[in-house]
Amino acid sequence: MTIFKSILILSTVSAFIAGCLFLLNVSFLPVFGLSFIAQILIWNLFNNWKTQRAEIEFELIQNERIKEFSKQGLNCICPDENCNHKVLVPIVLNEENTYKCPECNKSIKVYIGAKTFLATTPVEEDPFKNFNFVEGKDYDN
Ligand SMILES: [Zn+2]
Repeated sequence: MTIFKSILILSTVSAFIAGCLFLLNVSFLPVFGLSFIAQILIWNLFNNWKTQRAEIEFELIQNERIKEFSKQGLNCICPDENCNHKVLVPIVLNEENTYKCPECNKSIKVYIGAKTFLATTPVEEDPFKNFNFVEGKDYDN
């Protein structure tokens, strides 16, 4: 239906241009054909330009999102011992964070904890070694 409509508009415009020139003693059909083709070309150019602009805009949005990712992402290691795949996961602090491991396809939950130390206290080994992220405190040994 839209194609039919487009052809109708194309023909009408072409006929109008050809008709005007016909009054100036130019033969009708060649002008009609030429303006028909010219309109299709212009339409294609316009469409190409529009898709290109949309693609550029899309890329800009993607880049912005990637930037936000690197600001609020964590390098997470898959807890499955056979996998241990490391991947950058986007993190939202006030929500429960889950992701699917791209390597083994398992669903993984990310717990985020914070542990405080006096700035003067030297921290030598992994500060989260005995930390229970679910309860937010160290395991009782
Ligand atoms: Zn995995």
